[in-house]
Parts: sequence; C-alpha cells; structure tokens
Amino acid sequence: MSLDTKEFDVLILGAGPAGTACALALKDAGLSVALIDKADFPRDKICGDAIPAPAIRALHTLDPNYVTELRKLSRKSKISHSRVVAPQGIEATFDWKLEAWNIPRLDFDHYLLDLVKQHTNTQILCATPIDDVNITEDGVCLISKERVFKGKIVIACDGAHSILAKKLAGFSMDRNHFCGAVRIYFSGIDGSDPSRNEFFFSRKMMPGYFWLFPVADNLYNVGFGMLSKTISKRKINLEKALYTVIDEFPELKRRFAHAKAISKPQGMGLPIGTRRLKLSGDRFLLCGDAASLIDPVSGAGIDTAMLSGMMAADHIRKNWQDQPFTASVNRAYDRSIYKKFGKTFRKNTRLLRILSRFPRILPLGLKIISLGIKRKRNLQES
Ligand SMILES: Cc1cc2nc3c(=O)[nH]c(=O)nc-3n(C[C@H](O)[C@H](O)[C@H](O)COP(=O)(O)OP(=O)(O)OC[C@H]3O[C@@H](n4cnc5c(N)ncnc54)[C@H](O)[C@@H]3O)c2cc1C
Repeated sequence: MSLDTKEFDVLILGAGPAGTACALALKDAGLSVALIDKADFPRDKICGDAIPAPAIRALHTLDPNYVTELRKLSRKSKISHSRVVAPQGIEATFDWKLEAWNIPRLDFDHYLLDLVKQHTNTQILCATPIDDVNITEDGVCLISKERVFKGKIVIACDGAHSILAKKLAGFSMDRNHFCGAVRIYFSGIDGSDPSRNEFFFSRKMMPGYFWLFPVADNLYNVGFGMLSKTISKRKINLEKALYTVIDEFPELKRRFAHAKAISKPQGMGLPIGTRRLKLSGDRFLLCGDAASLIDPVSGAGIDTAMLSGMMAADHIRKNWQDQPFTASVNRAYDRSIYKKFGKTFRKNTRLLRILSRFPRILPLGLKIISLGIKRKRNLQES
C-alpha cells in the first residue's frame, strides 16, 4: 500500500524554538512550508525555563510585536539578576540590563507555535512522529506511519535526540559532549526574589550546578546538571545529587524546609557545543539542539536554537533561486553558525575544562569578581 504524499518547498522537523523561529523567519518568503512535530501542543519540554536575553532580541528582530505578545503571558518572571554561590558560601550577584524572562516551556513553546499559526501560512502538522528520512535526486522525504512529506530541503529542529542528525549527519551520542540534567517544579520555597536566578556549585557534586529559577507566583524550576561522562563514571543519580546539594548548603536546607515538589523529577540530555560538527549536507541543515548548539557553561540553548533557525531561513532565502541545496552550497550555513557562536563556544569549552579539572578555582574566581563588583558600586556611590 502506498502512503499518502504531500509536497512542500521547505520541511521543518520539530516545532520547538528552533523550528518555530525558522518558520517565522520564512514568513513572506513565498515558499510553502510544513512544520512537523510528533507532539500535540501545548507540550512540556524539560528545561530550566530561563529564556535568555538573546532569545528575546531574536523575537524582536522577527517582529517587535512578538515581544509585546510575550509580555502578556500570564506565568512568567522578569529576571534582572543572577546569583552564583560557590562551595564555602562565596557568592557573587550579577545584574542584567537586557530583557530576559523565566517562562514555563509549556507556555513559551505554545506561544511560539501560536505566532506561527497567526502570522504565517505554514502548514502545521502536530502529533506526526517522523520515523525515517530519504534524500533523493530531486528532494528530501520525511516518512511517518501514514504519510510521506516531500520537500526541496529539510531543516532539522528535532532536538537533542534528533533522528535527522543521526540519519543524515551520522551523529551519535558522545558523553564527552553531552550533559545530563534533572528538573523538578517546586512550590513553597522561602526567600526567593522573583527577579533573580540562582546557581549553586556544590563541593560534593563538582563539576555540575544546581539551579533555582522562579517561573511564576510560587512556582520554581529547580534542577541539577553535569557532564554525562562524569555522571556515568561516578554513577551519579541526578535526583539524589539535587537533594545532596540542598543538604550541603544550610541556606538551601532552610529555604526548602516547607517546599513541596509538585512534579516528578524528569531528566533529559543537553548536547553542548564543545566540538565543531558538520551541520549540513545535501538538502539538510541542522539547527538548535539537533546541531549541538547549547552553551557549554550556562546550559542555555533556547537563544541559539532560535537564532540558528533564523539563520537557516536566511540561507534558504538567499539560495532558493540557485537550487539544488547541495552539500557545498549548504556549507555556507555551517560557516555562518560557527562565525556567530564559535568564539563563545570555544571560550566556554576551555572554561568548562578548567572547572572540571580544578573545581577549587570557582570560589577564588567568584571572590575576585564580587570584590570587583563591590569596588565598582562603592565608586559609583562616592
Ligand atoms: C534540563 C534542561 C534544562 C535546560 N535549561 C535551559 C534554560 O533554562 N535556558 C535555555 O536557554 N536552555 C535550556 N536548556 C536547553 C534548551 O531546552 C534547548 O536548547 C532548546 O529546547 C532547544 O530547542 P530546539 O528547538 O532545538 O529543540 P526542542 O525544544 O527539543 O524541540 C524539538 C521538537 O522536535 C520534536 N521532535 C523530536 N523528534 C521528532 C520526530 N522524530 N518527529 C517529529 N517531531 C519530533 C519534539 O517533539 C520537539 O517539539 C535546558 C535543557 C535541559 C535538558
């Protein structure tokens, strides 16, 4: 029995931040676009829910009105400081000038997909898991149980365990370049400032960090993550590690005394940008987590996912007339991605390696930074 076939110019697999940003950036390109996702939206994505400032700027670039819409979401916290606490309680607080929010991914990703629905002619196909992909002479086919989707190019935005990155680019999971993390939603945590994200580095659980992010009224996203290689070498149970950190810091123990976990602990991998990969080939481009574009130190990937989705759209617009999208044409996309993110990733890869080998450097570094911040404040006040 032959499967029902649908044809488009561009296929986008995955409707997370990368896929939706790509679809929004293709608005008015005059192309027929399909945005395919296995999930039914709204859907959760295991995450810290911190939407970094560059992601807000990316939305603004797409259309300033999208940011106005974002500010109307009901569950959110505007973040203007980050507090970093090292072992022995040494800490520093950083103030952020640019607009950044914490928003549950259930709401944020639904809002992004709604923007695609409202402002583009994209054909949105949810609850459509793709099982296979074929590159042919004249295009690319995505194959689900019931249907085949044909396009001239596919944009792989299918996340950390991307089937397209595996099948088209030959990626395999490498624990040296992956982090693992667990997330639990809590209520009833004392002493939290709704405009402040907190990071705790535990003596027992180095190298890794514990986060405590306020996401809405009495709703906190709490998690712990570390390099997958260390998790498997030391056989670390991430949920236990999270509670170990709470026990290690008297301040956290006190603040969690009446806290209640309101979700199950859920774990997920983070493909970090600690190596340079081939992000394209004949008729495909990889974006976001499928391209391992998570910052190795901060663990942020929403911004790079959105920006890479927009850069993929830009590449399609520029090269649409000179098709086919061969591997050599698509190499320009790799160059633009690494031009944008390569320097930061290389710097943060070095920092991650130093912190992994010499964890005691962190308190010292923070002490120096906090003295610098204090000195600057004193100078401003005098
Ligand atoms: C525990 C944890 C905490 C994190 N915290 C933060 C944070 O606070 N801030 C931050 O910036 N980043 C954070 N990240 C990283 C961030 O979640 C990702 O970088 C971001 O979601 C990447 O977006 P994406 O669009 O590439 O992929 P995703 O958001 O994963 O979207 C991929 C989409 O593809 C769909 N899909 C997958 N396979 C198929 C298939 N075969 N067929 C059809 N559809 C498919 C999925 O259903 C999904 O909707 C965190 C990650 C983890 C794991």
